[in-house]
Amino acid sequence: MLISEQKPLEEILNYLDGEKNIFLIGCKGCAEGWESGGEKQVLEMKKTLQEHGKTISGFVVVDLLCDGPLTKFKLRAHKSEIDAADSILVLTDGAGVQTVAEVTDKVVHPGCNTLSSGGAHAEWKEAERCLECGDCVLEFTGGICPIARCSKHLLNGPCGGSQGGKCEVDPSIPCAWQLIIERLTKLGQLDKLEKIVAPKNWSVSLIAGPPVKRGL
Ligand code: SF4
Repeated sequence: MLISEQKPLEEILNYLDGEKNIFLIGCKGCAEGWESGGEKQVLEMKKTLQEHGKTISGFVVVDLLCDGPLTKFKLRAHKSEIDAADSILVLTDGAGVQTVAEVTDKVVHPGCNTLSSGGAHAEWKEAERCLECGDCVLEFTGGICPIARCSKHLLNGPCGGSQGGKCEVDPSIPCAWQLIIERLTKLGQLDKLEKIVAPKNWSVSLIAGPPVKRGL
């Protein structure tokens, strides 16, 4: 079970600055178990954001948010609410946030930090996309994890070594930073790369230590 906790409210409100209409997504899997993004937490977040002047265009709590096909199917029923939103706030672990980013064209904000996999793996079988860093940076990378998907785990990329869209360390995988740039360009948010992401404090991760690449 992936262990996550909600980010501080101030950080979430900073992410939502300048946006009025928000769609909320939670998960009945790990996030409900860890009380970071189950139905109760989604309803609490809805109330909190409304108190801060936001309009909630809708919300959904998906059984297993890290299951791409299931999430895509469930979100279809909320298409008009999602279309009406400026962005989506996702209350679950990094794998779930990335699933939503992959199946929608909206700006996706991470509402949680993932602390550990708890010895489990997400339903997203084809790739482990979260290395439980404890301080999620998906906000700045278009919902694509640079720690799990970049061979050099670069927080500020690209490195300049990729060729033909492939990683120079492992040409069998796409350059994560090229994917990030393409995604941010599509969202009109390329300026997010102007922010320098500070070196990571790994002590906030329950796996405490440098990233270990798994099966990418
Ligand atoms: S930045 Fe990547 S490793 Fe860290 S919590 Fe987010 S998805 Fe997981």
